[in-house]
Amino acid sequence: MQRSQQRADTPPAHVVVIGGGISGLAAAHRLVAAGVRVTLLEATDRLGGKLMTGEVAGVQVDLGAESMLARRPEAVALAEAVGLADRLQPPATATASLWTRGALRPLPKGHVMGVPGDPAVLGQVLSPEGLARIAEERDLTPTPVGDDVAVGAYVADRLGREVVDRLVEPLLGGVYAGDAYRISMRAAVPQLFEAVQEGGPLLEAVRRIQERAAARQRTGPVFQGLDGGIGTLPAAVADAVRTGGGEILTATPVLGLTRTESGWAVRTEARTVAADGIVLATPAWSAGTLLAAESPAASAELSGVEYASMALVTLAFRRADVEAHEALRGRSGFLVPPVDGHTVKASTFSSNKWRWVADAAPDLFVLRTSVGRYGEEEHIHREDGELVALSQRDLAAATGLTARPVDTEVTRWIGGLPQYPVGHLARVARIRDEVAGLPALRVCGAVYDGVGIPACVASAHRAADEIVRDLTGRITGVETGEITGEITATPTRVRGTGSEAGQ
Ligand SMILES: Cc1cc2nc3c(=O)[nH]c(=O)nc-3n(C[C@H](O)[C@H](O)[C@H](O)COP(=O)(O)OP(=O)(O)OC[C@H]3O[C@@H](n4cnc5c(N)ncnc54)[C@H](O)[C@@H]3O)c2cc1C
Repeated sequence: MQRSQQRADTPPAHVVVIGGGISGLAAAHRLVAAGVRVTLLEATDRLGGKLMTGEVAGVQVDLGAESMLARRPEAVALAEAVGLADRLQPPATATASLWTRGALRPLPKGHVMGVPGDPAVLGQVLSPEGLARIAEERDLTPTPVGDDVAVGAYVADRLGREVVDRLVEPLLGGVYAGDAYRISMRAAVPQLFEAVQEGGPLLEAVRRIQERAAARQRTGPVFQGLDGGIGTLPAAVADAVRTGGGEILTATPVLGLTRTESGWAVRTEARTVAADGIVLATPAWSAGTLLAAESPAASAELSGVEYASMALVTLAFRRADVEAHEALRGRSGFLVPPVDGHTVKASTFSSNKWRWVADAAPDLFVLRTSVGRYGEEEHIHREDGELVALSQRDLAAATGLTARPVDTEVTRWIGGLPQYPVGHLARVARIRDEVAGLPALRVCGAVYDGVGIPACVASAHRAADEIVRDLTGRITGVETGEITGEITATPTRVRGTGSEAGQ
């Protein structure tokens, strides 16, 4: 594979990355590894976006994202590339529950995003009528999927609404904080979309997915966390970017983008920065505003992306107050079907799920609840104390825990998760088509190819690689679009980027 090189006598190409969430940081890391001069501009005074640690009862915990899918390589590889390999830690328990029909019940195994493959395991979760409705699927005529279909509508048609309301909604809601009856199957559960396109009963499609997964014989954990919190990943990536010669400015919102004869003018409050290329790694509303002048069509598409807001309530209890409660033992937490009308949508028992949390605070039991999802955001604007009280009320009903917490922390994520309704992928394709008409500008982040951290990192790498290709030949500082993760002609080398580049 060719290596990216820069000649000693020419300045390297300069790319401005806008947005210092994990997507912008991953793009900057990739660009620096390709020998590109990078300036990352972040609007707030903190890097990381939805990845953030904070303290509760003196213990550092995640107050945003807390886990990375490890079955996709990108996020774990990034953590390894920036020196965090020895801090990777899988969940200590994956035993989750559903708080449904008045009790905590084991989450049935053998499902794809809540869509079951075997009705025999659903006895505790569904009513006899719900189970009988599943059995009717074999007599139904096929349900058309077309170019895309809402997960909830399709599954309700095949297996009945109860499966959607009691299983799919809590599972899908746990990832997207969205409404299963709106969310695109093609964008959110692509393996299911492919399997249902093959035809036949939905139950069999789910079983086919499981058989194929089993045939791949994947080993290793499905998820990984980081000792100290996933929220520590951004600082490590930022350090690697700086080590590779990149510049990172916080508290520097980008206010406007204008094409110039040689590239781009990036306007901030204090100055205008000249760039050969741009990676736009901001949420849709911000990307839409910044593209309004140069690509009104992309801007209009981005303005149409909707978001869900939520609040996380983190509570620390004395461990002695929790130990008597069987419901809090050994489980990683519980999900809540919205149909039951509770305020809390899910709870993670952090001290059970993460060994590093238990080790950091052996006398405490830390858990968190989440409140709010798409279309149900009235609670998150309540006072902190009210949100804590509502969480405690639901926790008491679900687990019997009535002890007073020793400390609490409320974190609101307004516009936390972009929604992927039916047609989302077509919208993303239109956005990418529009920006492809602009010189050396690419978009990346949670808006496009998935909201999970690995998908964000993958979209960042794609954007960075495409920019390098765009700049190849036009700017002599970059001679080849191939990124190897090794900087051959710059004074410093980014630590361990070879594994990140997947070679
Ligand atoms: C509460 C919560 C829990 C989650 N849990 C998980 C989880 O456990 N696992 C998982 O994989 N995913 C999780 N996710 C999803 C995942 O964390 C996010 O999708 C991902 O972190 C988004 O990263 P991003 O860089 O694309 O966007 P963001 O994190 O939103 O970063 C964008 C950055 O751009 C900056 N910005 C905006 N406008 C401008 C401007 N004009 N100029 C400069 N900067 C600007 C913002 O300030 C922000 O820092 C969770 C999300 C939320 C909200």
